[in-house]
Amino acid sequence: MKPCGIAILGSTGSIGLNTLKVVDHNPQRFQVKALSAYSNFKLLEEQIRKYKPSHVAVGPQGLDHFKSTGIKGVKFYPIGDCAQIVSLKQVDVVVLGQRGPSALIPFLEALRAGKTVAPANKEALVMAGHLIMDEARRHKARIIPIDSEQSAIFQCLEAQGSKPAFVHLTASGGPLREVRSKDFKRMRPKDILRHPRWTMGPKITVDSATLMNKGFEVIEAMHLFNLSCDQIKVLVHPESIVHSLVEFTDGSLLAQLGITDMRLPIQYALTYPERLPTGLKPLDLVQLGKLTFEAPDLKRFPSLTLAYDAARQAGTLPAVLNAADEEAVEAFLKGRIGFLSIYKVVEKVVLHHTIVKNPSLQDILLADEWARIEARQLMEPRLRR
Ligand code: MG
Repeated sequence: MKPCGIAILGSTGSIGLNTLKVVDHNPQRFQVKALSAYSNFKLLEEQIRKYKPSHVAVGPQGLDHFKSTGIKGVKFYPIGDCAQIVSLKQVDVVVLGQRGPSALIPFLEALRAGKTVAPANKEALVMAGHLIMDEARRHKARIIPIDSEQSAIFQCLEAQGSKPAFVHLTASGGPLREVRSKDFKRMRPKDILRHPRWTMGPKITVDSATLMNKGFEVIEAMHLFNLSCDQIKVLVHPESIVHSLVEFTDGSLLAQLGITDMRLPIQYALTYPERLPTGLKPLDLVQLGKLTFEAPDLKRFPSLTLAYDAARQAGTLPAVLNAADEEAVEAFLKGRIGFLSIYKVVEKVVLHHTIVKNPSLQDILLADEWARIEARQLMEPRLRR
């Protein structure tokens, strides 16, 4: 069997590292053909020496850095040219592990080249889900999500085949699930960044504290599985063992369960439709004893309602939601605004936006830029604490 050629964008981040662990576990099955990383050149250099990709895209100063390393046989690109490395002939699957809107163009390019795309990135689908799904259909390219919830829904639908009536997207509840709302205003980045279940980057951990992360996943799932937002329900499940459920017209539910380790959904996306041993400890249900579920508290976590509204109104609004949230969370992480201001800023930007229906890529990028400027203006001194 010919090994599967992989391109990993964001190879030094947590999705990238987990993807490489999956490769290490079944080295005969995979060949790393292309990598990209924004700034961790030291780690990227180690990866290049170990996996020997032929094409690598690097962030600012990367081209100069790698000139001095004497690495041979690798073609380096500026990070903005990621779209080129995803369409290479030798690449079969593209893992989108980088965070942020920069995944959007490579995502579209990979689909146009007919590649299978395994996105962990949320922003691209939130911003331009309709354009992405159109390109996938047009070029008969497959999208196999590696976000654990989307992977779970994908797996349940693969097993069943009929159209679901609802999907239940599970949420750990985030780091503030047990914190009283009157203490929210005192939350500092260090309080938030201790997530009970998943180790993730700081931006997504803050989004998981506000439940905006789940809101983005609702929008993603709408596009990936061709559902209306009313067919997607959020279910808080603190143990994070049931990664999501699909409900059919007869009321029957299928769930996908597994340990909380990203290597599981990543490997599934890379070997689909085949399943291979992962070397991970299997799930021990007896040891777990019980699994619990509860409804999300929309009073304490209004960001989820904001995301549902954006999903319903669609057009450029989800892109605006995403951009405003990114700006507000960054300001929070830098200590420039308080935790509760994240919601206030995002809500204001969303309310000020004039929605463009059926937006083109250009409309989406303009809306993204507009929302960032608007959010930054709102966070000028008077909101600073
Ligand atoms: Mg998730």
